[in-house]
Amino acid sequence: MAGKLKRKLTVLAAAGAVLLALAIAPRPARPAVPARPVEQSGTVGALWGKTILVDAGHGGSDGGARARDSGVWEKEINLQTALALREELTAHGATVLMTRETDMEYDRGKRADLTARLDIARQNGADLLICVHMNEYRSRRESGPQVFYRGGQEPSRLLAGAIQDAMIQTLKPAKERAALAGDYFMLSLDIPSVLVECGFLSNPEEEMLLLTADYRQRVAQAICRGVIEYCALTEPAASPAP
Ligand SMILES: [Zn+2]
Repeated sequence: MAGKLKRKLTVLAAAGAVLLALAIAPRPARPAVPARPVEQSGTVGALWGKTILVDAGHGGSDGGARARDSGVWEKEINLQTALALREELTAHGATVLMTRETDMEYDRGKRADLTARLDIARQNGADLLICVHMNEYRSRRESGPQVFYRGGQEPSRLLAGAIQDAMIQTLKPAKERAALAGDYFMLSLDIPSVLVECGFLSNPEEEMLLLTADYRQRVAQAICRGVIEYCALTEPAASPAP
């Protein structure tokens, strides 16, 4: 074989190897699924095929409520909780979109900002919307997570109830609240939508808890568990036979 041809074949073989390597390389788009408790619970992939929009409430010039003792703004705790929620939902197979991943707002004016957030759900065909907020009240005694839905929207009521139950079971709050109908602009889409008030920043004990990554992780796990419950309720055919 002529030296020139041999070199040409060698080059072709090398190019082929590169192409093969590219073809079998893992796709980086999807974050790795963490191994731990998720696999033990037997619910890996329970949210497969679902596109969920997670909205970290407030942001930018809109700080939301302010924690009474630490002075930390609600927008910051919302974001950290929403990021933990994304991790949980993704670990169960959901495709998760975020309205924000930094301290920002979309537009001047509250309504324009909220409309931009809802547009993300519309434009991406989201199946569910979860808005993450922290509560506050004049009396420092008020405490406990509470989930809101739009009155008259049965799927949203079911989703809110499932998340409320999961939060009570997982977080064991001193005060057990019930899911409530609420008139929020963010709950105006036709997809199942909830606004989760994760706890009261005006309550000393709950403020302390919500400032820890560990508790926020448990909040995220509880919300995720509620979403899985809801999906099992509304799609019984998809759950495994007993
Ligand atoms: Zn809020």
